Amino acid sequence: MKWIGSLAIMLSLAAKGLPQDAYQKSRSDMVKYQIENRGVSDEATLAAMRKVERHLFVPDSYRGQAYSDGPLPIGYGQTISQPYIVACMTELCEPKAGFKVLEIGTGSGYQAAVLAEIVDEVYTIEIVKALGEQARARLKKLGYGNVHVRIGDGYYGWEEQGPYDAIIVTAAAEYIPPPLVKQLKAGGRMVIPVGSPFLVQTLMLVEKVGGRTKTKSLFPVRFVPFTRSGN
Ligand code: SAH
Repeated sequence: MKWIGSLAIMLSLAAKGLPQDAYQKSRSDMVKYQIENRGVSDEATLAAMRKVERHLFVPDSYRGQAYSDGPLPIGYGQTISQPYIVACMTELCEPKAGFKVLEIGTGSGYQAAVLAEIVDEVYTIEIVKALGEQARARLKKLGYGNVHVRIGDGYYGWEEQGPYDAIIVTAAAEYIPPPLVKQLKAGGRMVIPVGSPFLVQTLMLVEKVGGRTKTKSLFPVRFVPFTRSGN
């Protein structure tokens, strides 16, 4: 009988030591090796990346690769961005509690969830109806009541809810859509990949300072194209 007692103790210890989800270790390794080691240092961003369960945002068949160092297909020819890029773009927005953020390109909803861990409200627009609906249901199920998904062309932004403290665009545009600049608050920041579709693009930071718009090229990136008609 004694062994049953020890087994019970062992099991309860194991339960205590068990990660909250089977991927927690992979996720903390992802943050450490792919993100912190490459220079992302904003604590709020790192905490959000450690918390959001990326494996719940990828198709089942890719779950095992959810914490690997690259983008993954999410259907409809679209991808969930590489974790490092998500972290960089989040950090570049300088997100804070109280912020209202607009995202163009909901995709899986992962980037929106990362932002929603930090800021008050996230408004996100997806042009592919099926993806938008899937992301909306997923975010609701995961309890992200502060993420609002709209299906449509993000080129025009979401004017009724603006202006925004930050805008993040996760598809590569040939130029910066003027309606988005207009919907950015004074002092706000927009992060957007700009360049030709299917080639290497440049991640740009747009800042509204003292009534002027300042644009800075940051580093080369590769995103799926910003499209202009629904499908
Ligand atoms: N942020 C996403 C990555 C999505 S990939 C994530 O975390 O998973 C880019 C997404 O932008 C795709 O889903 C694509 O359909 C969408 N997209 C492309 N052009 C768009 C547009 N004009 N308006 C809104 N979404 C757009």
